[in-house]
Amino acid sequence: MYDIIGYSEAETVREATMLLAENPKLRLIAGGTDVLIKMHGGQLEGAELLSLRKIKSLSTIRKAVDGTISIGALATFTQIFKDPILREMIPILTEAAISMGGPQIRNIATIGGNVCNGATSADSASSLFALNAQLKLEDYQGERLVAIREFYLGPGKVALKTGEILTEILISPEDYLGFGGQYIKFAMREAMDIATLGVSVVCKLQGSTFEQIRIGLGVAGPTPLRCLEAEEYAKEKEVSAPTVAEIGKLAVNSAKARTSWRASKEYREHLVQELVQRALKTAIVNAGGAKLV
Ligand SMILES: Cc1cc2nc3c(=O)[nH]c(=O)nc-3n(C[C@H](O)[C@H](O)[C@H](O)COP(=O)(O)OP(=O)(O)OC[C@H]3O[C@@H](n4cnc5c(N)ncnc54)[C@H](O)[C@@H]3O)c2cc1C
Repeated sequence: MYDIIGYSEAETVREATMLLAENPKLRLIAGGTDVLIKMHGGQLEGAELLSLRKIKSLSTIRKAVDGTISIGALATFTQIFKDPILREMIPILTEAAISMGGPQIRNIATIGGNVCNGATSADSASSLFALNAQLKLEDYQGERLVAIREFYLGPGKVALKTGEILTEILISPEDYLGFGGQYIKFAMREAMDIATLGVSVVCKLQGSTFEQIRIGLGVAGPTPLRCLEAEEYAKEKEVSAPTVAEIGKLAVNSAKARTSWRASKEYREHLVQELVQRALKTAIVNAGGAKLV
């Protein structure tokens, strides 16, 4: 049932990276809610697991003096949802966290596992894309930062090199201060469902115009993505219903939707156009703007 041929636990990042350097075949496990499902389904045979769960430092969520928000890779979705810093500063991530799975899954599933699993449906992904998150990856030789937009390479494929561990997710103050946002998860049912589409929008206003908007989409393509054409169009445009409608239309150009058993390509594109507008309208209010009708 679970074809596990070895199991070890690290208590520090250093120990984990050294163990990985000695044995690159080790498969990392955090909450195990993806890894164990894959093993149960026979997709991972003869796995040698290295658990990160005892590395206390990786569960921390904090705001640095310069305003950078750091979320440890082992922070669970329950922890993210309850965190006062995230609730105040980047509620689009706490909204995504509470929309994910059920309570038991949220209590154990980590944000690091959600990102490293490489699924376009990952509930954290569209918000992390909209927030321009940077990922800190560490191996036994050092660390590097990778923008989340460069991390997703294809379905289930991410830019982790052999021996690397995701340790922190970083969000810079210029990417969240003064922004209002909104996350919408569209799923076939409200409880415990994988997203048919995930939409995360942040915007910053300058008087009656858009200074900046960023749109992250999940399940609109093989990887999460940003709607750069729509974002570019929005710059310095008047905050109005016609502008928002045009942004919704342009967002569809960035989507790479396909038909799956959950929804057709056309339906997903319709959802992109509609939900981007809805999310943006709420984001405008959250950024201090007036409600558009
Ligand atoms: C019943 C159920 C419902 C679910 N519902 C949802 C949902 O609504 N939305 C959603 O997005 N997901 C959902 N999931 C999927 C899953 O729970 C999430 O993707 C979760 O965040 C994975 O985190 P984990 O800690 O369990 O990862 P693991 O299963 O421990 O690991 C996942 C992958 O990431 C790698 N990994 C983990 N941590 C690190 C790290 N720090 N550095 C490098 N690699 C790492 C592992 O090697 C593995 O490849 C659901 C799963 C189940 C079983």
